[in-house]
Amino acid sequence: MTRTPLSCAQPCYCPVETNEAAHPLYWDRACIQVSVEDDPGSGFTTEDLDAVVDRSFGAWTGLDCGEGRTPGFQIQRTDDRARCDRSEYVSGEGNANSVVVVNEGWTEREGHDSAAFALTTTFFLLNTGEIIDADMELNETNWNFTVCPAEGCIDGQVDLENTITHEAGHFFGLAHAESGSDATMWACADEGDVNKRTLEADDIEGMCTIYGEGALPEGCSFSNRGGFDPYCADDRDGCGCRVAGAPGRSEDASWPLLLGGLGLAFAGRRLSRRRARG
Ligand SMILES: [Zn+2]
Repeated sequence: MTRTPLSCAQPCYCPVETNEAAHPLYWDRACIQVSVEDDPGSGFTTEDLDAVVDRSFGAWTGLDCGEGRTPGFQIQRTDDRARCDRSEYVSGEGNANSVVVVNEGWTEREGHDSAAFALTTTFFLLNTGEIIDADMELNETNWNFTVCPAEGCIDGQVDLENTITHEAGHFFGLAHAESGSDATMWACADEGDVNKRTLEADDIEGMCTIYGEGALPEGCSFSNRGGFDPYCADDRDGCGCRVAGAPGRSEDASWPLLLGGLGLAFAGRRLSRRRARG
């Protein structure tokens, strides 16, 4: 397969279904668990991936919103590894916010463009925009990830931290920045790019606006909605209803994104998912 760097000529996806009561996405909890798959790629180890996840999420949680105030999150990597290598939310059962490596079969997955470095899917309540689960898939099928030196990679490899820092923005509910922006949340990146490791003013403003003073509840529980379960629904004995495969996609819009999605029945409310490119 011929590999070409992402360019700014990527298609712009429009929502499949208009969400009449669209809301910006947000977490309503200060403490969030993230489960990383034990699945090294060709150019990185699981330990590399763990360290990059810590740094990439840390870029968002540790930023200064002014006068030393941070958005207020605590991110905890679970000791139990993600065991489900696809994005999935299981209603009524345990779940995991996962970071997984897709070593093969990327393009066979619905909505997975071979040109994308990664894909983050958020599951959220349509009536509020509250995120209840988020899963990040890395496209190691079509790209070779590694941890580039500070000046970037020049040999066709893709920097893990550059990619995961961008995806972590989606994880927290941010959409893409304006086209041509130098922000981490700009949709395009070149192979070997490391500029997205650090946040720009537009990224910081977006994060601090969503999670302004008092936005997150006081108190901290890392327990997921429905509890923690790192396995796919198909690998469990339970009878939960798996919610996956819906073709809701984000558009490449400026923040805050008012998005559409495919509504799915969820405990009397509506649950949707959105996919964010790259
Ligand atoms: Zn993106």
